[in-house]
Amino acid sequence: MSKVLIIGNGVAGSTAASVISRANQEVDLKVFTREKHPFYQRTRLGEVLGGKSSAKDIILHDTQWYAERNIDLQLETTVGKIDPEKKIVKNELGGKFSYNKLLLAPGAKPLLPPISGLNKGNVFSLRTLKDVRKIKSQLNNVKDAVVIGGGLLGLESAFALKQRVQNVTVVEALPIVMGKQLDKTGSKYVQARLESIGIDFKLNARAKELTGGKLVTSAVLNTGETVRTDMVIISAGISPRTELAESGGLETSRGIIVDKTLRTSDDEIFAAGDAMEQNGRCYGIWPPAQEQGKIAGKNLIGGEKVYEGSLSYFKLKVAGIDMISAGIRDEERAREVLVNEKESEQTYKKFFLNENEELIGAILVGNQSCYPAVLNGLRTRKTFDQLNAEEQLIN
Ligand SMILES: Cc1cc2nc3c(=O)[nH]c(=O)nc-3n(C[C@H](O)[C@H](O)[C@H](O)COP(=O)(O)OP(=O)(O)OC[C@H]3O[C@@H](n4cnc5c(N)ncnc54)[C@H](O)[C@@H]3O)c2cc1C
Repeated sequence: MSKVLIIGNGVAGSTAASVISRANQEVDLKVFTREKHPFYQRTRLGEVLGGKSSAKDIILHDTQWYAERNIDLQLETTVGKIDPEKKIVKNELGGKFSYNKLLLAPGAKPLLPPISGLNKGNVFSLRTLKDVRKIKSQLNNVKDAVVIGGGLLGLESAFALKQRVQNVTVVEALPIVMGKQLDKTGSKYVQARLESIGIDFKLNARAKELTGGKLVTSAVLNTGETVRTDMVIISAGISPRTELAESGGLETSRGIIVDKTLRTSDDEIFAAGDAMEQNGRCYGIWPPAQEQGKIAGKNLIGGEKVYEGSLSYFKLKVAGIDMISAGIRDEERAREVLVNEKESEQTYKKFFLNENEELIGAILVGNQSCYPAVLNGLRTRKTFDQLNAEEQLIN
């Protein structure tokens, strides 16, 4: 019987396991995760932190799901090393597991910026349910909190904290929030909405030092300002986990390098999710990791499916803000840019078209019903006129 090992039980690994089990082949399938919990919706961690949902609410596959499908789920088992020559992986306790095919889907870890004082007791990042538990265990003593990073995850963390803490300040190095996903105008609406619920912003500012004793009491910024705080959450981006691939001598750059079938530099080893890099792209978001998991699952049992890349698509899901940012949003790469802003309705739309008048990117902020049409238009590369005739994107 073919032995398949999957390292990682996030959306990439779990989707691959699901595909393999549905194929009804004779496969001895093991899935490893460092975490105590089976597969859960990582994108909803902010809800658990803010108290809107419990850890149980966000579990997508419980342990019974794995048992029913004959998948051997190894919880709290960290794989420390892979040996592609002997085709074995070793866990940190010395256990050895052999394979015919291996999938690396270990995700990413929070990027820690060069700030002194990061090792203090009340400095956290938000990646796992364990992180949520640690943060929550200290919240009773917190009146002021600082979030370092005003990207999508930073804003979600700030919103979650604001449900539990009196004062929340976001420190962002760029002059706008969500600078990777939005332009100045779109960002202005998002920031204003978050300010209206009491979140403070320090833009154009970097935290350079976290001061205090064992616990942080202040964040010192490069602007000379000092922000008092009882807790710091670092949300300064992610770094794909490449260490396992490196332990086996596989090719890595920012992520684990894969070809169009998601194979790494070793033919029997695949990679998917936040950890992988294809054509210089690391995605770091849920839908591509899920799409890659599907393809990796098929290829682990003999398929030769090709991954064509995914649409980059971001959605902010806090404070009643409707915002999506999708596709190519670079004015220099677009032939034409169409903008429609209605301040009175707090709506903002920006569409990016290529030389064939096809929609290649969009930013939408505000209460709008055209999100599905826009996403569909981006996926099918419809012309803007065609889309506008069907859905009245701009009026
Ligand atoms: C708070 C938060 C909010 C987010 N919001 C959004 C959003 O709104 N939209 C969006 O598209 N994306 C969002 N994301 C990103 C999204 O969650 C990730 O892109 C996605 O979860 C990546 O899935 P993955 O399977 O590659 O990795 P992960 O979900 O990180 O899973 C990695 C798995 O690998 C295991 N693992 C790692 N190393 C080892 C090892 N050595 N041994 C054994 N197991 C190991 C881990 O335990 C885990 O099971 C958010 C992320 C966070 C943290």
